[in-house]
Amino acid sequence: MSDVRNVIIIGSGPAGYTAALYTARASLKPLVFEGAVTAGGALMNTTDVENFPGFQDGIMGPELMDNMRAQAERFGAELIPDDVVSVDLAGEIKTVTDTAGTVHKARAVIITTGSQHRKLGLPNEDALSGRGVSWCATCDGFFFKDQDIAVIGGGDTAMEEATFLSRFAKSVTIVHRRDTLRASKAMQERAIADPKISFVWDSEVAEVQGDQKLSGLKLRNVKTGELSDLAVTGLFIAIGHDPRTELFKSQLELDDEGYLKVEAPSTRTNIAGVFGAGDVVDHTYRQAITAAGTGCAAALDAERFLASLA
Ligand code: FAD
Repeated sequence: MSDVRNVIIIGSGPAGYTAALYTARASLKPLVFEGAVTAGGALMNTTDVENFPGFQDGIMGPELMDNMRAQAERFGAELIPDDVVSVDLAGEIKTVTDTAGTVHKARAVIITTGSQHRKLGLPNEDALSGRGVSWCATCDGFFFKDQDIAVIGGGDTAMEEATFLSRFAKSVTIVHRRDTLRASKAMQERAIADPKISFVWDSEVAEVQGDQKLSGLKLRNVKTGELSDLAVTGLFIAIGHDPRTELFKSQLELDDEGYLKVEAPSTRTNIAGVFGAGDVVDHTYRQAITAAGTGCAAALDAERFLASLA
């Protein structure tokens, strides 16, 4: 079957492009669906990336992704800026359908569709992303030395982000819409005991303020409706992520939170020939370098799987 590819990669963040680079260099001629709107993945929406090894002065997110894309293309990866709208992964030959209805076939599929951080849904939130508004303390905490920061959320991630940020910040205010936290007891206790961390209970963000940079928040008490101002130059939104697994959920095993399950430390899913990498699998590390690392692992796993068919 000459129209059957070796491998199709769905997703074009650090995981997808790294999988593309490795499979291309292994002469597997990968076909990569980059996504129609967000080709390049999550880092297309940020400014400085200072923690991707190899760039001692840092690099802008979109430039890093352009470089990864060009590197994969240089070795023969075929890149299509389109979404996959359906898949059939069960058989030996897997099929992937694009938005025009064209069906593409392959013996192996690597899924690197990432996850979407939940947003507050407020005007200005996206415009100030990378300009005071962040979804990742590990990525951006360093930029907020001696500043006043708000963290939104009441779960483990919010407590972890707040505790991590208190190392750099002048103050950290956790804003939570209830009067109790969802976070584990140990995480709560650590945050409550931290002298730099304070809490605003029963409150949500009503307005994200600032022109070129974040200048403050307007908070609304959800019980009284009362509005108040919080002067901060950093806003970390920690209200959860949604893995992009909608397309696969009737076919592949997902965990309780909807992330793709793999046979760690491999990237194998429950279907032979289908592999998962990056943030669509990982709800622990969520970094560009870890996504790239598992993208590499998925490529090597796919390569070995294809060799075993020969
Ligand atoms: P993603 O980068 O999310 O890419 C997924 C891709 O899949 C997207 O291109 C999407 O279009 C595509 N896709 C989804 N569904 C389909 C479909 N049906 N068909 C085709 N394509 C599809 N990490 C760091 O290490 N350092 C940082 O400084 C840093 N800063 C960040 C700043 C921001 C604002 C954000 C949001 C994240 C940041 N991160 C940072 C985290 C990092 O971006 C992610 O961990 C990483 O991008 C995950 O890579 P991924 O390849 O798994 O997924």
